[in-house]
Amino acid sequence: MALSRGGLDRHSELRTEPGLLDVLLDDPATRVVELVDGRAEIAEADEGDGGVVLRYRSPDERDRGRFVAYLGHDAPTGGTAYLLSVGSDGDAAPEDPTRRGLRAVGARLGDLDAGILTTATGLANWHARHGFCSQCGSATEPAHSGWIRVCPVDQSEHYPRTDPAVIMSVVDDRDRLLLARGVGFAPQGMSVLAGFVEPGESLAGAVAREVVEEVGVTVQDVTYLGDQPWPFPSSLMIGFTARAVSTELTLQESEIEAAQWFDRDEFSRAIADGSLRISQRISIARRLIEHWYGEEIDVPDRPLKG
Ligand SMILES: [Zn+2]
Repeated sequence: MALSRGGLDRHSELRTEPGLLDVLLDDPATRVVELVDGRAEIAEADEGDGGVVLRYRSPDERDRGRFVAYLGHDAPTGGTAYLLSVGSDGDAAPEDPTRRGLRAVGARLGDLDAGILTTATGLANWHARHGFCSQCGSATEPAHSGWIRVCPVDQSEHYPRTDPAVIMSVVDDRDRLLLARGVGFAPQGMSVLAGFVEPGESLAGAVAREVVEEVGVTVQDVTYLGDQPWPFPSSLMIGFTARAVSTELTLQESEIEAAQWFDRDEFSRAIADGSLRISQRISIARRLIEHWYGEEIDVPDRPLKG
């Protein structure tokens, strides 16, 4: 999973240390990742293998007036500290090619950089969307080195939220995979089904409900395969495979334009002749499809939507 990689030690016990951010901002050895409109400075990796690296900098005056958060260290003890600094839209040109977002470069980053940019993106997105107290509506303020927000009126604490979503490969008794084209996908685009978990619902229950809702298929044997954060803006994608006990497709027209069962030969041909475009490498959908297919699928990444 491209966005589930480790490398960053979050050291959550340090977040409540008074003055931690000031100490780290005064230390030129601290590495700052700056996000402007969700995009960080990147450079091609020295290896020349298509990989990219994040370009960190030392803290400077710009960081003093901004939202800054402590992300962690690159070692369990000692090591280098990493800070997130969130700039405003005017701090970078919209078309600056040296700045890219996680979705564009996440699969090409090394483990440490991927962990840092995934965490930084999720945290920045949460702060940008949760500036007001859900109890009384007052403007809230960051605390715990950027990991919570506190209401100054009623002192309520607000923690970053993550929205669980299930995503599932549905396979029938002939080992065919179900793919569907969501509304807004490219004409060739298809993927596995996914949906948000509702209040009061188990993960397996959400898998079964979403599949019935979207394509009218009943599933059993829901089995966990893996998960990854998907901070666009705040999801955790939890991947499953499920066995279809019915195969007739009844589409939910508001969400699904088309759906089809593929055996491996049909799938291989459609990928090869370009009539089928699947989710990009960074996505858990791609991993679920490859898990069914039995090997990595080597096609150029193209957006599923649009
Ligand atoms: Zn409040």
